[in-house]
Amino acid sequence: MYVKVLVETRLKSNDMTFTYHVPNTIKEELIGKRVLVPFANRMVQGFVLDYAPFSDDYEIKDIIDVIDDEKVLNDELLKLGKYMSEKYLCPLITCYQAMLPKALKAKIKGNHRLRKLTYVRLNNAAIITNINEKQLEIVNLLKEHKEVLKSKITAKSSLKKLIDNGFVTEFLKAQYKEVEAGFDHKDVVLTKEQKMASEFIEQRFGKEKVILLYGVTGSGKTEVYIEVVKNVIKNGESAIILVPEISLTPQITARFKAVFEEKVAILHSSLSDGERNSEYQRIIKGEVNVVIGARSAIFAPLKNIGIIIIDEEHSESYKQENNPRYNTLDIAVERSKKHKCPVVLGSATPTIESFARATKGYYDYLELNKRVNKKPLPKVSIVDMKTEIKKGNKLFSSILMEKINERLGKKEQVMLLLNRRGYSSYLTCQNCGFTIKCPNCDITLTYHKTSGMLRCHYCGYAENKIEVCPCCHETAIRQMGIGTEKIEEEVLKAFKGVRVLRMDADTTSKKGMHHKIINEFNSENYDVLVGTQMIAKGLNFPNVTLVGVINADQQLNIPNFRSSEKTFSLIDQVVGRAGRKDKEGEAVIQTFNPEHYSIICAKNHDYRVFFKREMFIRKKLNYPPYCFITLIKISSRDFNFGMNESKKTGVFLKRNLSNTTTILGPSMANILKINNCYNFQIILKYKKDDKLYKTLNDLLKIYEGNGRIKVEFDFNPINL
Ligand code: ADP
Ligand code: ZN
Repeated sequence: MYVKVLVETRLKSNDMTFTYHVPNTIKEELIGKRVLVPFANRMVQGFVLDYAPFSDDYEIKDIIDVIDDEKVLNDELLKLGKYMSEKYLCPLITCYQAMLPKALKAKIKGNHRLRKLTYVRLNNAAIITNINEKQLEIVNLLKEHKEVLKSKITAKSSLKKLIDNGFVTEFLKAQYKEVEAGFDHKDVVLTKEQKMASEFIEQRFGKEKVILLYGVTGSGKTEVYIEVVKNVIKNGESAIILVPEISLTPQITARFKAVFEEKVAILHSSLSDGERNSEYQRIIKGEVNVVIGARSAIFAPLKNIGIIIIDEEHSESYKQENNPRYNTLDIAVERSKKHKCPVVLGSATPTIESFARATKGYYDYLELNKRVNKKPLPKVSIVDMKTEIKKGNKLFSSILMEKINERLGKKEQVMLLLNRRGYSSYLTCQNCGFTIKCPNCDITLTYHKTSGMLRCHYCGYAENKIEVCPCCHETAIRQMGIGTEKIEEEVLKAFKGVRVLRMDADTTSKKGMHHKIINEFNSENYDVLVGTQMIAKGLNFPNVTLVGVINADQQLNIPNFRSSEKTFSLIDQVVGRAGRKDKEGEAVIQTFNPEHYSIICAKNHDYRVFFKREMFIRKKLNYPPYCFITLIKISSRDFNFGMNESKKTGVFLKRNLSNTTTILGPSMANILKINNCYNFQIILKYKKDDKLYKTLNDLLKIYEGNGRIKVEFDFNPINL
């Protein structure tokens, strides 16, 4: 018998399956499993995709070993990978690798078996007699807990006696990550609005329909999801719930764990590889019927999916930024076709594209307009920082200072948002104007005071802080701009005895830190939480009554057609963290653009007005949803070569695409140097272009196997 095996090769733009012979010693079904094969003088792992016809080619080699006992890629996932590879024009192997936890990817080398731990339990068949007090203690412990990790029992010799006498049995079990179900344990009675929402969704069970659930912050979307998932399970089906980031998962997973107990599997990036794999194995074995996780959980190999929920659907984390550059929603829709189930998109700030589709009737539309606590949405004040600067208030306006003091006095909590980590944004020489940049990337380094280092936020490069300018040798280096570290320091200075926590990529880089910070703040051991956009998303702290946005303009200053949308969304979300329980909340937004519509609409919590304004502008400038955008990324270490080939590509595209497609670039303006690689861009804007896929495929073929240049595509990119 012969099979086709997909392996990772150096020819990145190509999808190579190779035929191998299956020796007679291997009898099992191989499709969807990983095998070990000889390839170019080494051993590599690959996925078996299909059977191959008989071949008498003497060069065909034997499969050496079968790695998996059970399929890692079922038929649905095998098909889905092909769909992705064609839709996003990326190598098939990258699609399969993206679906699987690290332990199950087809690696070039490495170990792959799942780590198991020894547990003990009582042997029910044995009648226990003649034991001493210490042994009785163990027996009682096992009666109470059923299964106990062997290493947890300290009386080793007593345990050994029990095992030797056959009273206690040892067994191996994969270690599962226990998620603490800390809070939100209670049963809730749904409000009328929530009840209607869940019924609306349930009416669409069994149909492949996308439903946009627009629910203001604090309207209780999570409880709607829980109600719907309960009914999905009653029907004998399963559910996938996606959440944007790990910062969100502790609270929402705790809530789901409390309701569905051991029927939930959790997949997110803060699990160790082993933990992730054990959760995954439980899904494969059919031990769970609810999966909660970040983006890649959309690939969870559940059977009979009854619903897919994408919470905070506007989040950028649903788009993968390297190959395969997939949008989670596309994958959800593809899976919903197979399973005949609805997809729910929940958000208080839907993307413009999603809302536009709902207005056009492509999506069903559902609203939750009221906060569960029956309180109004937070009252928002906009502060013009131009006048504050004149008064000498650089970081905190007088209003914000006053309000923080007031809330601290009432023992309530405050959240402060600044979407920039580090201490200062960049360092510049006051004498010659030299700015300190990363040697690998053409980007300014950020000063981090805690570590005393200058860091590149792109590639991670770090160097010691300097005082003397490397260019003019004057001691005139000044720090410009601010980051969360600085805000933390200033809050400590400005408010006596205040307890401050900081949540950003720096304080949460260690495993478990997200969880810890959230728990500490939730337990009210701290008064103020300073953070980047991480604090804006989905978190629920009952005692937070004031939110301050230190600088609302950061995103507005970035040239990107989504800047206004991102600004509105971030402000509306972070403001929505205030007043979620018994007390009313309020917010202060500091800005240099107090008249900007995204800031005014966020103040008024008016999504619809924002949507209208934004659609008007998108139409005028021809941006999505009025057209599609595809980004062509060309990168090379050699600037001149890269530039030349990009120009040639531009000509090639003009010749081959429809004349209604707009081709922008390559321009000198948006060349980015990252990690010593020059990145050139060509942007395509089109409503419909039948020649698109053929042309882009031909382009890939031109550069296939060319080691000096890499061509990749990003369909519907987030950042331009
Ligand atoms: P959203 O995601 O819409 O911003 P959440 O789902 O986080 O809102 O809910 C906000 C808060 O209201 C949570 O503390 C939640 O436990 C609580 N809550 C939701 N629904 C109910 C209900 N029907 N009765 C009581 N409390 C509720
Ligand atoms: Zn760098």
